[in-house]
Amino acid sequence: MSVTSVNIEGARERWVRTGGVELCVAELGDAARPTVLLVHGYPDSKEVWSEVAERLADRFHVVLYDVRGHGRSTAPAPLRGGFTLEKLTDDFLAVADAVSPDRPVHLVGHDWGSVQGWEFATVERTEGRIASFTSMSGPSLDHFGHWIKSRMSRPTPRRAAQLISQGAKSWYVYMLHMPVLPELAWRGPLGKRWPKMLQRLENVPLGGYPTASLPQDAAHGAWLYRDNVRARLGRPRPDAYAHVPVQLITPLDDVFLSPKLYAELEHWVPRLTRRTLPAKHWIPRTRPDQLAIWISEFVRANEDGIPAKDAVATGPHADRFGGRLVLVTGAASGIGRATAFAFAEAGARIVAVDRDAEGAARTAEMSRLIGAPEAWGEVVDVSDEQAMEKLAEKVATEYGIVDVLVNNAGIGLSGSFFDTTAEDWKKVLDVNLWGVIHGCRIFGKQMAERGQGGHIVNTASAAAYQPSRALPAYSTSKAAVLMLSECLRAELAGQGIGVSAICPGLVNTNITSTTHFAGADAAEEKRLQKKTSRLYGMRNFPPEKVASAILRAVVKNQAVVPVTPEARGAHLMSRFAPRTLRAIARLEPPL
Ligand code: NAD
Repeated sequence: MSVTSVNIEGARERWVRTGGVELCVAELGDAARPTVLLVHGYPDSKEVWSEVAERLADRFHVVLYDVRGHGRSTAPAPLRGGFTLEKLTDDFLAVADAVSPDRPVHLVGHDWGSVQGWEFATVERTEGRIASFTSMSGPSLDHFGHWIKSRMSRPTPRRAAQLISQGAKSWYVYMLHMPVLPELAWRGPLGKRWPKMLQRLENVPLGGYPTASLPQDAAHGAWLYRDNVRARLGRPRPDAYAHVPVQLITPLDDVFLSPKLYAELEHWVPRLTRRTLPAKHWIPRTRPDQLAIWISEFVRANEDGIPAKDAVATGPHADRFGGRLVLVTGAASGIGRATAFAFAEAGARIVAVDRDAEGAARTAEMSRLIGAPEAWGEVVDVSDEQAMEKLAEKVATEYGIVDVLVNNAGIGLSGSFFDTTAEDWKKVLDVNLWGVIHGCRIFGKQMAERGQGGHIVNTASAAAYQPSRALPAYSTSKAAVLMLSECLRAELAGQGIGVSAICPGLVNTNITSTTHFAGADAAEEKRLQKKTSRLYGMRNFPPEKVASAILRAVVKNQAVVPVTPEARGAHLMSRFAPRTLRAIARLEPPL
């Protein structure tokens, strides 16, 4: 055994001999801790995992190896027949025995590493050697074979469409079955251009990956397809049931694999946890933070025998938001609180922010009871730039980079234009507009700099597109939020960060009892607040429905979301009947 350093920081390297090949194995972290074994895909080497491995190394014994014929591992001779799943299983067992002889390992596979992983997790001879399996972007060939068969034998229009769609995504698989040509392409122009292509098409950052062995890896790896795909898809094993708990992470924008492929997976996997994320195929490079969190939680849960709290979350979209960090401003009341709860129900970690300390703490406490694995209350005035900077620093160091930011804090201001003082204007713009600007600038910048996607939701209002003589300042602030959201959406689209503007109509919250009525004395203001509250109470549209719309907006990456029928109606009118909307704007408010 020789120990040298490889280009994964801090890794120790050793060689494992098995079945006529020598496998290059790298290890990080304390070998006494649970072992997480990362298997790479095609056309990669173990370095595809470097970012994830470094993030896991302080908690686990992390092991990576170059699959036979890849990276620094030697290739079988002859190549044909040297890459069967049976031989790859021998390799896996040899590595597992070398690095963790007494304890089963937690297996993680991407792409062909995952295809192999499914084999390891479903054949009898590995039983007792695997504690859990996290699969990403690589189906079981047996499950895939059955999936195709069931669609061929009962081709409803929907199922036939799924078959055709996946067939089109698999074009490269047919190419790789051609003799010699793929090898020539990889050793020639394709090998040279591949890193740039990955950067352009997949947003994979350059640096340390792919490694210099790429052309050789890709040429050898073509045998993974040739030795296994046709044979397995044609005659899938009937008993390919997983004997370990499986976490399936599905990137939703994978150009090679349709998420529909996994529709019937519960049939094969009795203990299945599903995760989804809006990303393309190469998530070990583009989403290492998220993967490290999900792998850690899954491994911990299976070590302790207690399911991860976010994995058992039952709320809508739990697959998408489990374990993610969500920050909501104005979270002590109304729409903000309901939104924090909805994300908590989906298993997200919550930062509940408000200028009302007690209310924020209460939201955090309730979020934990509802299903958030962690939740914190934080006090800040969103209009205070420095305080927001300080909060962002604290959140980044103590809780992590925010995955979903909801700029929701806002205040009401009613009254005619000439009754509205400059001071009134300043107050409403400071909170409703500057609060959102600060949030987007400060937290949005962290999100963009991390380079691993995210989402920003800004709470605007139907008042953003519906003029009214009663709300000139409030409406102006919300129109600005709407336009800011649209502009930012355009700017951040290329970085995988979505931006949504939510436009609620009349929602039954506290806002009516704190709205300032410009031009009214204290007693008159109290009367108007009471009257408006009664009106909103009669309308009785619950903030929970706005919260659901917010989660949906993130999942579907919607640009502008009018909530409540009147908000939707006004939105349509603003586009198709603006004159009518203007006529309505002239009416005296019913107060
Ligand atoms: P709400 O009064 O129930 O909640 C607003 C929360 O924001 C409160 O907890 C408050 O303490 C907090 N907040 C206010 N100013 C803040 C500041 N400077 N810094 C930090 N926190 C601050 O009201 P809501 O109806 O839930 O309002 C939420 C958002 O929805 C607001 O932006 C509002 O303009 C918008 N909205 C509400 C309605 C509605 O009918 N309720 C309609 C359209 C839009």
